[in-house]
Amino acid sequence: MTSSIGERAASMVRSDDKGGFPPQQQDPPGLTQRMEPVPDHGEETYVGHGRLEGLKALITGGDSGIGRAVAIAFAREGADVAINYLADEQADAEDTASWVRKADRTAVLVPGDLTERQTCDRVVAEAVEGLGGLDILVNNAGFHWDKGPRDGLEGLTDENIERVMRTNLHAVLWLCRAALPHLGEGSSIINTTSIQAYDPSPALLDYAATKAALNNLTVNLAQSLGPKGIRVNAVAPGPIWTPLQPATRDTEKIETFGSDTPLGRAGQPGEVAPAFVFLASPSDASYVSGTVVGVTGGGAVF
Ligand code: NAD
Ligand code: MG
Repeated sequence: MTSSIGERAASMVRSDDKGGFPPQQQDPPGLTQRMEPVPDHGEETYVGHGRLEGLKALITGGDSGIGRAVAIAFAREGADVAINYLADEQADAEDTASWVRKADRTAVLVPGDLTERQTCDRVVAEAVEGLGGLDILVNNAGFHWDKGPRDGLEGLTDENIERVMRTNLHAVLWLCRAALPHLGEGSSIINTTSIQAYDPSPALLDYAATKAALNNLTVNLAQSLGPKGIRVNAVAPGPIWTPLQPATRDTEKIETFGSDTPLGRAGQPGEVAPAFVFLASPSDASYVSGTVVGVTGGGAVF
């Protein structure tokens, strides 16, 4: 019998008392196949039930990690999927696309760096063209930097502040604005925020602020788009094993990553995807808008 993703995730935790992952480092944006262990995106476990039949979704950062797990789940629920990613992540994007196609759904690849407004406009336009419309926008691309000495304000460089703000916040505003003319009754926007919005780490001063801002944006947009029948929600993950981690955190932090949660381990991307499916479903979540669903292994999201 196939074990559940939770059992598989628990078995991927180190057996020594550190609880995290083997020492490893990558340069950003990071690639899935270079990770040890390779994350579980629900490839062998996620079973769809037609919850998103015939819908069309754009997922930013859909090549890897949480975005890949969401792409696989959405496709198995009956949605066609466009994914955006950085050019360096082509190999990951093609792997995700192959899982979408194995579910007999259309996969559209739309590379591009979202820190430029023109790229956000183009990505939405190409997704709409490739899918023949748009019902779901998942704003999932994100960046943080936690390598080297990081001590609140003193550890912040201008370059990183700019990259974090533009990736996590500016791009979301630009993408929502570009997508709006294509969305209508039954559509939804889902933002990926973070436990950092509620329980911020001093080393992630800039990142945590963007995620708190995204929560606020989620509630505010839900008010203005509600009358159009468009729901707006967010998912706030806790520590999840994805390429972002070895690409942007020091090895010592990888070795204990996730071990301080009440469940005592990091989550796998496949354990986050069902929250996105629920929020995207026009029937299951028909009256759910302006909320943030935590998937944190026990960390409080209030
Ligand atoms: P990931 O590295 O798999 O995904 C992040 C993706 O962001 C990358 O694949 C990349 O395609 C995309 N991206 C980054 N900069 C970009 C840019 N300038 N233009 C276009 N795309 C860009 O890691 P992940 O952990 O799955 O991250 C997904 C989201 O989850 C992020 O918003 C992250 O902040 C959030 N999150 C992650 C965790 C965690 O512990 N992994 C916890 C809370 C929130
Ligand atoms: Mg990636």
